[in-house]
Amino acid sequence: MIIGCPKEIKPQEFRVGLTPNAAREAVSHGHRVLIETNAGAGAGFEDADYTAAGAQVLETAAEIFATAEMIVKVKEPQAGERKMLRAGQVLFTYLHLAPDPDQTHDLLASGATCIAYETVTDAQGGLPLLAPMSEVAGRLAPQVGAWTLQKANGGRGVLMGGVPGVGPARVVVIGGGVVGTHAARIAAGMGADVTVLDRSLARLRYLDDVFGGQFKTSYASAGNTLELAQAADLIIGAVLIPGAAAPKLISRAQLATLKPGAALVDVAIDQGGCFETSKATTHSDPVYDVDGIMHYCVANMPGAVARTSTIALGNATMPFMLALADKGWRQACIDDPHLLNGLNVHAGQLTYYAVGKALGLDV
Ligand code: NAD
Repeated sequence: MIIGCPKEIKPQEFRVGLTPNAAREAVSHGHRVLIETNAGAGAGFEDADYTAAGAQVLETAAEIFATAEMIVKVKEPQAGERKMLRAGQVLFTYLHLAPDPDQTHDLLASGATCIAYETVTDAQGGLPLLAPMSEVAGRLAPQVGAWTLQKANGGRGVLMGGVPGVGPARVVVIGGGVVGTHAARIAAGMGADVTVLDRSLARLRYLDDVFGGQFKTSYASAGNTLELAQAADLIIGAVLIPGAAAPKLISRAQLATLKPGAALVDVAIDQGGCFETSKATTHSDPVYDVDGIMHYCVANMPGAVARTSTIALGNATMPFMLALADKGWRQACIDDPHLLNGLNVHAGQLTYYAVGKALGLDV
């Protein structure tokens, strides 16, 4: 199969759909790999790395789209890219179609077969192509929280690990899923005093079993959440209710009861945020102040560490990408129902129920 990877063109997107290692594996399986010049630059991969892996570097995205039988990307195709898709071509990337009717209509019109990373599943009921980005965002959260707590950045001037004779920062993580667990581990590793809140007792039991000595757990009743938040220096929001907007767990009125200069890192901002005062920010201007409480609400946190994120995403997508290339999308989806769950659009037909329901379209 001819596999093509264009350079990402969405603003602030530095990741790339294929790493040189993924290209090398595809070539070793007998496939031809085309990559746009400079596609990997934002993640620290040179054209020469791809050439050494056996890929062919092309000058323009137009050449990639015209030649490739499968396009592998990171972000949803932008309007200009969608015009270049064609019937019979496979698109494998994040799509997030439910809130995006324009993209959905364009993909239907293209006739292409579009498989979305975010709806591919695994045998444990997880989302294996979303998990790596939750891991990255979770591990980054204490790092950006520690920076936000510094005095010059508007914070309380509290050091995460304290020093001998001075206690550590108190960190509260709301939501103990993938993001929350990784955030708690890193915050505990920095020496902070960490408590994870969740509404799932099964999850709290798991966390207590595995990480009992490293951080504490607490049930996320409204009372417990507020009490712990009021004692915290850093609060990390990491909740998810699948398919719904994030619940608001700290209200505007409650902000006044938090410690002055406390930092809120709202990782759930891509689902609307779990603090009432959260609004999405960007890497170029990530933090703002409401009533003396510093808010970090970057919707695309993994972009800050594009190299790590690209490699982590590539590790997760590679087996699926190889199956699609080796067997063709149809046989690969017949063989693997979890990959079939990724199929959102095929030959002008919407094939994913939740997207149809969200957009009022037939599936
Ligand atoms: P997850 O499903 O693994 O975990 C979510 C956890 O929240 C679950 O354990 C659930 O029981 C818990 N929860 C739900 N409601 C709660 C409540 N009211 N109080 C306490 N806990 C509650 O999800 P995840 O992969 O960890 O993702 C968490 C959030 O981070 C999602 O909104 C996701 O979209 C977001 N995210 C953002 C970025 C970013 O760059 N900003 C990157 C990755 C993920």
